[in-house]
Amino acid sequence: MVNQLHIFNFPFMAQGHMLPALDMANLFTSRGVKVTLITTHQHVPMFTKSIERSRNSGFDISIQSIKFPASEVGLPEGIESLDQVSGDDEMLPKFMRGVNLLQQPLEQLLQESRPHCLLSDMFFPWTTESAAKFGIPRLLFHGSCSFALSAAESVRRNKPFENVSTDTEEFVVPDLPHQIKLTRTQISTYERENIESDFTKMLKKVRDSESTSYGVVVNSFYELEPDYADYYINVLGRKAWHIGPFLLCNKLQAEDKAQRGKKSAIDADECLNWLDSKQPNSVIYLCFGSMANLNSAQLHEIATALESSGQNFIWVVRKCVDEENSSKWFPEGFEERTKEKGLIIKGWAPQTLILEHESVGAFVTHCGWNSTLEGICAGVPLVTWPFFAEQFFNEKLITEVLKTGYGVGARQWSRVSTEIIKGEAIANAINRVMVGDEAVEMRNRAKDLKEKARKALEEDGSSYRDLTALIEELGAYRSQVERKQQD
Ligand code: UDP
Repeated sequence: MVNQLHIFNFPFMAQGHMLPALDMANLFTSRGVKVTLITTHQHVPMFTKSIERSRNSGFDISIQSIKFPASEVGLPEGIESLDQVSGDDEMLPKFMRGVNLLQQPLEQLLQESRPHCLLSDMFFPWTTESAAKFGIPRLLFHGSCSFALSAAESVRRNKPFENVSTDTEEFVVPDLPHQIKLTRTQISTYERENIESDFTKMLKKVRDSESTSYGVVVNSFYELEPDYADYYINVLGRKAWHIGPFLLCNKLQAEDKAQRGKKSAIDADECLNWLDSKQPNSVIYLCFGSMANLNSAQLHEIATALESSGQNFIWVVRKCVDEENSSKWFPEGFEERTKEKGLIIKGWAPQTLILEHESVGAFVTHCGWNSTLEGICAGVPLVTWPFFAEQFFNEKLITEVLKTGYGVGARQWSRVSTEIIKGEAIANAINRVMVGDEAVEMRNRAKDLKEKARKALEEDGSSYRDLTALIEELGAYRSQVERKQQD
């Protein structure tokens, strides 16, 4: 197609960024846009099957890869994604240096392909400059919602955590449409300790590039957070398009869901058969994303909670930071005693496939934005258990604005679990979302949001219209550039 709009989509190398980028690519291509995904060599295989399926359905999507300069920054070859270095104070800065070195190979690709727009991750702030070199707009993708972006900006500007005298005293996040309260330890250490490091300097560049880039694409939908979509655009003055949830527009096929990101540690059919054997809304699903690190003491408390709650469960245990031997994570005889009620997945789970199943009644989540949104799209109440990044903000959106979840009481922002949440608190939160009138109300609200999410993406829904507006604007920008070149 001669006049086809061509977008370079360059996600950060982390599951929580690459998975929505793939869905987003499918979303744009489903509207006639050509998309080239850019990633490092190691990540090509995670995209290829899905791209192949999309291409077979007539979508114009392809992939190009660049080399991650691991050895140049002192990392072992094969280390090229955030989940491999998260929580490692030595590797993380090296990894981020490697990320910055991707500018040159990216610009080489821009030179060769001359796309009309560069849609790149927040962690590549220098891509604003790269796009400018080629006279094209750079759209920024954060991977979080307007609520979290707005709350984070308020905390940064107002530093309300400086007005409390103890770590347990609550403060209100100023100027937001709702009264949102947090404690000092729920704020990132970078923010509250005012640390100056390469990483915090990079975070500052990320923030600056939010206003210097052409605009921000948000994986959310207007009806989910109308006050904050408006606040982000009208009060903070950002140019933004709410065009999600990407997950729903991806016309995801069963194979894509069974094999999202990494290879599942369980056969999808085995998992679905197990769920089929349970009553509707009777299973609690627990998973903490791709990066949160739990220790054996915490795993032990979760096991105790699951057993005492008496609920059916699917528990995804990714890895344990202090004990490799999985038989030592659980109380003696736990796996044997819970073999009817529980399914433990050690490794990667087919999360979206599980969440969609009617037997799943609630989701214990670390409040990563993708998981949160996947829970919302599945229409289930959430037990919130944030660890780091913007997860404490997401928790507030769920528990206090949407009122579709209940927290375990996490207080400590940390990449590695430093506080141990007791089994009683976990069991209490699980029971609150699974049993009783309050649980029914939460479930009804969650089902309502699920419906609204679907509607947002239907023709003439809010996300559909926002995407139409964005595509038209990019088209107009391109025509303007081409006219200038002809003059
Ligand atoms: N995920 C998955 N299986 C797992 C763990 C995670 O499919 O066992 C997916 C999950 O569905 C989500 C992504 O990985 O799409 C994690 O992103 P999120 O923003 O929730 O958290 P992060 O990993 O970035 O902390």
